[in-house]
Amino acid sequence: MIKSSNIGYPRIGENREWKKTLELFWSEQMSEEEFEKEMKQIRLSHLKKQQDKGIDLIPIGDFSYYDHVLDTAVMFNLIPERFKTTNGKLALVNYFEIARGSKGKVASEMTKWFNTNYHYIVPELTKVEPKLMENRLVHLFNEAKEELGIYGKPVIVGPITLLSCSKGFTNEQRASLLQSLIPLYIEVFTELRGAGAEWIQIDEPILVKDVKEEIVNELQLVYSAFAQNVQDVNLIIQTYFESTEYYKELINLPVAGIGLDFVHDAGANLKLLEKYGFPNEKYLFAGIIDGRNIWKSKLVDKFDFVKELSNKIGENRMFLQPSCSLLHVPVTVKNEQQLESQIRDVLAFADEKLDEIALLTHVFTEKQQIDDLENYDKVIHSFKESAYRNVEHIQEAIINLEHYSSSRISVEKRKQIHEEKWKLPLLPTTTIGSFPQTKEVRKQRLKWRKGELSDKDYEQYIQSEIKKWITIQEEIGLDVLVHGEFERTDMVEFFGEKLEGVAITKNGWVQSYGSRCVKPPVIFGDVYCKQNMTVKETVYAQSLTDKPVKGMLTGPVTIINWSFVRDDISRTDVMNQVALAIRSEVEALEKHGITMIQVDEAALREGLPLKQEKTEAYLNASVYAFKLATSSVKPDTQVHTHMCYSNFDDIIHAIDALDADVISIETSRSHGELITSFEEHHYNKGIGLGVYDIHSPRVPTIEEITQNIKRALEVLDYRAFWVNPDCGLKTRGEAETVAALKVMVEAAHQYRVKI
Ligand code: GLN
Ligand code: ZN
Repeated sequence: MIKSSNIGYPRIGENREWKKTLELFWSEQMSEEEFEKEMKQIRLSHLKKQQDKGIDLIPIGDFSYYDHVLDTAVMFNLIPERFKTTNGKLALVNYFEIARGSKGKVASEMTKWFNTNYHYIVPELTKVEPKLMENRLVHLFNEAKEELGIYGKPVIVGPITLLSCSKGFTNEQRASLLQSLIPLYIEVFTELRGAGAEWIQIDEPILVKDVKEEIVNELQLVYSAFAQNVQDVNLIIQTYFESTEYYKELINLPVAGIGLDFVHDAGANLKLLEKYGFPNEKYLFAGIIDGRNIWKSKLVDKFDFVKELSNKIGENRMFLQPSCSLLHVPVTVKNEQQLESQIRDVLAFADEKLDEIALLTHVFTEKQQIDDLENYDKVIHSFKESAYRNVEHIQEAIINLEHYSSSRISVEKRKQIHEEKWKLPLLPTTTIGSFPQTKEVRKQRLKWRKGELSDKDYEQYIQSEIKKWITIQEEIGLDVLVHGEFERTDMVEFFGEKLEGVAITKNGWVQSYGSRCVKPPVIFGDVYCKQNMTVKETVYAQSLTDKPVKGMLTGPVTIINWSFVRDDISRTDVMNQVALAIRSEVEALEKHGITMIQVDEAALREGLPLKQEKTEAYLNASVYAFKLATSSVKPDTQVHTHMCYSNFDDIIHAIDALDADVISIETSRSHGELITSFEEHHYNKGIGLGVYDIHSPRVPTIEEITQNIKRALEVLDYRAFWVNPDCGLKTRGEAETVAALKVMVEAAHQYRVKI
C-alpha cells in the first residue's frame, strides 16, 4: 500500500507564534523556562496537525529554534572558537549568539540555502573537535512518541551536504572532517533506533548540484559505513529542489529509501528512473507536490503520474510526499479570507499540500475515489478560464514581443549626451533610494491602512517627509537626489499592491532567516499596470529642487524572484509581463520629466539556477526582461540599476549586458574580490561601488571612504565612477544617515580636486 510522508513543516506557526516567542525571549521579556514551554507547545501542535491529516511518516527535528543547519552543527560540537564556553556546554543563549552575534563576538555568516530564500548559518569548521553533544533528535523523537503516540521520522542534514555548506577548511581537511563525522552520525542513528525509530531521513540536497568526483567517493564511503554499522533502522537519503545528478550512484547505495523530487526539472528524475531502473529492494520517497509554490496541484494528473510510477516500483515500496520541506511555503490558506474566493480557491499552502498528499494516498488505498480528485481539480480548471488569466492585450503583447524595442543606441553616444545634459561633476554623489523608515513613518502607514488616516492626509504626510529629505539632501550637497521611498513598505510588495494580476496575502509569511519572515506577493494572473505607480511622489520631489531626482522602480527579475509565481504559463512569460508593466511606468516617469530612472535588480543573482547548464538561459531571459523594461526611453534619459551583492564574477557579462547607464553595487562585504572581477572585465559604463557599509549604524570616517574610492579607481575609470552608499538607508536612523552622507560627500569633494 502506498503511504504518505512529509519532509519538513514550517516552523513559524499560523500566526507567526514562533517568531513572536523568539523575539520575546531575545528581548528578555520571556524566561528561558517559559520559552521552552511555549516552543514545545508550538512544536507539538505542528506534529498533531500532521497526525490529524493522516500523514504516515511525520518529520521530527525539522523544527528548530533558529536554523536546522545550525542545530546539526551544534549537535556535533562544530562551534566556532569564539563561542565556546568554559564548561563545554552550549546554553540556549550561546546557541543564539552563534546566529546573531553578541557584544564583541561577530555572528557566524549566513547564506542562502540552495536556490531558496531561506538563509542558514554557515558552520565554521576551523579548529573544531567534532563530537556528539546532546542528541536532540532522540529527545524530540521521544517527545513525539510520548505526547502524541507518533513514531516519527527523524530528519538530519547529511554529512556531505553539511560539509559542502560549511567553511573554514581545506580539501585535505575535508576528508578528515568527514571521517570524524561518520561515527557521530552512526551514534545518533543507533540511539534513535534504540528509542524505536524505524525511519531516518538524511537530507543530501547537495546531490542535485553538478557532479563532483569527490562527492561520488564520499557517498560510497559514508553510506557504506552507515550500512555496516547501523542495523534495523531504515535510512532514507533525501534529495530535493531539482533532479539528482548522482542517480546511478544513489541507486547503488546501501540505503533503504531514496527521496527524489518529481516536480522540478521537467521530469528529469523520472527519465533517470526509466533509464537506470529502481532497485526492487528499496523504497521510493516520491516528491510529487510542489514544496516551493503555493498553488493547488491538479490531482488527477498527479494520480496518473503516481500510478505510472507505482507500476514500475510497486505500491508497497512507495511513499508520497512534497518535493521538499514545506518550510518554504506559508502555513495555511485558512487565514486568507480577505482574498477573492476564486483566487483563494486555487491556493495550497503547507497544510493544504499535506491534505493533497493525504487525499492522493487515500485514493490508492481506496478510502477515497477518483471522483474526489476530479472534484478537487475543478476550481483550477475554471480559474484557468478566468478573466484574470486571459487579459487579451497582455497575451498579445507577449506573443509579439519583437514589436517592443529592447535595445538603445550605443552607450558611448548616450554618455556624451548625458554629459552635456546634466553636467555632473566628477565622482557624482547619490544614494540608492530609501531614507530611514522611522517609527513615525510606519505608524502613519499603519493608521492609513486601518482607515484612521484619510488618503489625503497620508499623502500629505508622505509629501512632508519627501520635502524634509529633499532639503536635507540639498544641504548635504548630494548631486543626484531621491524621493526616499517613504510610501513603500518593501521594494517588491509595493509594486505587488499596485500591479494587476498580483495579490498580497495577509498571513502568507515564510521564514527568511532567524525570526525574520517575508511575505512574497502572489502573481496569480496576467500582470499589467492600470495607473501610474510612482509618478506622483517622484514628480513632487523633483518640483522641489533643481538637482535631478532619480525615479525609483523595482525590476522584473527581482519582482519575479521575490514572489510566488503562477505555474500555468512559463516563468519567462510572467517575467516579460512584469517587464512590460515596469516599462510603462518608466515611460510615464519620462513623460513627466523624470529622466534619470533607477530600476533595481537586487535579486538577479539570487535566481541563478543550481545547475550550470541552466545558467545561461536564466541570465539571457533576465537580461532581456530588464532591457524590455528600460529600453524604450529617449537617448538622453539615464537608466540606473542597483544590486546588493558583490560576488558576481560569474555574472559580470550579464550585468554588462543589462546596458544600464549607471550601476550601483554593494561592496563593503568583500571589497577585494569585487575589484578583481573588474580587473578582468573591462566595464565601460557608469558605476558606483558602495563606499560605506549601511548595515551598521557606525558613521564612516573620511579616510575609510577615501581609501575605498582609491581602491576602486585603481581598476575603474574615474570619469565613470559614482560615489554612493552600499544600499538603501531604510533601516538606518536619521541622525547617523545624515552624518554618514556628509562624510561621504566631503570625501568625494576632496577627491575630485585631486584628480
Ligand atoms: N531602492 C531600494 C532602497 O534603496 C533598493 C533596496 C535593495 O537594493 N535591497 O531601499
Ligand atoms: Zn541593495
